[in-house]
Amino acid sequence: MTNVRTDWTREEIAGLFNLPFTELLFQAASVHRQNHPPDQVQLCTLLSIKTGGCPEDCGYCSQSVKADSGVEATKLMDVQAVLQSAAQAKDHGSQRFCMGAAWRNPKDRDMPAIVEIVKGVREMGMETCMTLGMLTEKQADMLAEAGLDYYNHNIDSSPEYYERVISTRKFEERIETLDHVRNSGINVCSGGIVGMGETRDDRVGFVHTLATLEAHPESVPVNALVPVKGTVLGDMLHDTPLAKIDDIEFVRTVAVARITMPMSMVRLSAGRESMSDATQALCFMAGANSIFTGDKLLTAPNAGDDSDAALFERLGMTALQGEEPMRACGGQAASKQMAEGVPAE
Ligand code: SF4
Repeated sequence: MTNVRTDWTREEIAGLFNLPFTELLFQAASVHRQNHPPDQVQLCTLLSIKTGGCPEDCGYCSQSVKADSGVEATKLMDVQAVLQSAAQAKDHGSQRFCMGAAWRNPKDRDMPAIVEIVKGVREMGMETCMTLGMLTEKQADMLAEAGLDYYNHNIDSSPEYYERVISTRKFEERIETLDHVRNSGINVCSGGIVGMGETRDDRVGFVHTLATLEAHPESVPVNALVPVKGTVLGDMLHDTPLAKIDDIEFVRTVAVARITMPMSMVRLSAGRESMSDATQALCFMAGANSIFTGDKLLTAPNAGDDSDAALFERLGMTALQGEEPMRACGGQAASKQMAEGVPAE
């Protein structure tokens, strides 16, 4: 098992990004196979349980009230309808059901329905993940008590670039919610988006922030911006197509995330539908081992079950069986122990 470090410097991470591509890929693939089955990929399904009308101004998001993207605001879905979608996802082989609500933060009046959803999905034998915006300590504890397995809260980019993408909240508030989630005992899912016009140095800062948290997130989604017309970043990229992230740079980001956070699940998320099979294969080689299945992410298109099945067949890969390494060895406590150089039990 690889030694888990949380003391990475920005220089070390920049050095990894700068490696010759073949060397970087070799190192990442080596770390990957020491800690994960290299031919297995975790399948997750994502459902938007409350779409649009979000008061935040994230420049990439079609669900912000500031975006002119045509996404209609809906109310929180009915509990039974959510459970029905979860049952379908389970039938399609998903291990984990992720649910997203376009909120700045959940209101206390929303919590009973959210708790009921978590309990219902867990009773089906699926893992649960939610992304509901910022959480108070009390809300995080309520979700933990309901049995929520994961909470997603992305840091999006480097601390420096963050304020160029979002103005309605601060980077520190993101970290604060991650702390509440961690302290409540829920597993942390946190990643970001590349291709938002940020520099290589921002991508270094993005990975550095996650890799130096007291305990690494159990899941690290790496998204490639899906430029949606009507959003600030979507319009910017439509006007300057060269700003789009280069596939090789995207694979480099996945590889550096894998090397610096060896036990985490690194998830290919948004942007996968526009990647070639060859780029996705390189990402798997570089240590990505989790994807979203289905035709749709929260609002953006996704690759779809059929094309995923065809790709897995061509690559000789299968759906992940069994537990993730960080959970199998005790999650946060183990990660902390390993960070401190004490082997996990
Ligand atoms: S990313 Fe989330 S918080 Fe930001 S505008 Fe979209 S739904 Fe709201």
